[in-house]
Amino acid sequence: MRFDVCSNFLSENSLCVFLLHGVVKNSNYHYRNFNRKHILAEEFDFFLETLMKNGTPVSMDNLIEYSNEKMMPENAFAITFDDGFENNLSVAAPILKQYNVPATFYLTTDFVANNTMSWIDRIDWAFEQSVACPLIEISVPWRKIPVKLEAPSSRLSFLNEIRKTVKNDRSINQHKLSSSIQRQLGYQVVYSGTSEIDTKLNWEDVKCLEQCDLFTIGGHTHSHPIMSFLSETELLHEIGYCLSLLKKHAGITTKHFAYPEGMSNCYNQKVIKSLKSFGIKCCPTAEHGVNQISSKSDLFKLKRIFVD
Ligand SMILES: [Zn+2]
Repeated sequence: MRFDVCSNFLSENSLCVFLLHGVVKNSNYHYRNFNRKHILAEEFDFFLETLMKNGTPVSMDNLIEYSNEKMMPENAFAITFDDGFENNLSVAAPILKQYNVPATFYLTTDFVANNTMSWIDRIDWAFEQSVACPLIEISVPWRKIPVKLEAPSSRLSFLNEIRKTVKNDRSINQHKLSSSIQRQLGYQVVYSGTSEIDTKLNWEDVKCLEQCDLFTIGGHTHSHPIMSFLSETELLHEIGYCLSLLKKHAGITTKHFAYPEGMSNCYNQKVIKSLKSFGIKCCPTAEHGVNQISSKSDLFKLKRIFVD
């Protein structure tokens, strides 16, 4: 939902949980950030200013209390960030502090430990590098013949096709596909970057966020797989290793987690049971909507509103 109309979702009896990934000072790209995963600092400022005029900020910890009968304020909203981009600390945090708004940051620990890009950011990066090529040709496992792409619009719709297909097909190895596309477009295989939409928080940055009373850190797996696609062993590793690295490198013990991708096919009862076995109490989805909070609320199926 566009940042400037998000406050329309506030209402007396429900809680809006907003989902963001990044806040940046500039965003001048042809293909990268076309879905506005990172919004501009002045847009984020306007978004918080409008929410503060009309609503009451709460933390995800407050939310656990509201599910235990504590009264929730009217027009309540919570701010969450997924993945662990460095701009969360350098650009978003000062604006959150200025408005005194709590936020929860769900971190993918491999992104933090190795400054890794997500598989789709690696593909978007290669498309951006190829912007001046009049024609690009790409083979992907779900198409019988290579796709020929000329116009920017066809490239953007193909990027959407890639996102949609990969998120629904557990047989596709995401990073293998990204490496293949980078090579097909004539580049070396790239796993990390230093632009403001690539750089991730490092462990010092994570500690810095954690030290601020307004902010909470949660897990978002170790390598950002779709959790429902994993075997039991892989699932326990993705959760357990993520939580152990948060503890080891930043001294953080958390009861918060968010599912990578977060759509209805990305989690299930097996995933929820595994999270609970690690002491996780609350795990929002990325399904669109607002939430009624009561003792009957399932804090593992909370809906969020994607801010773009
Ligand atoms: Zn994510």
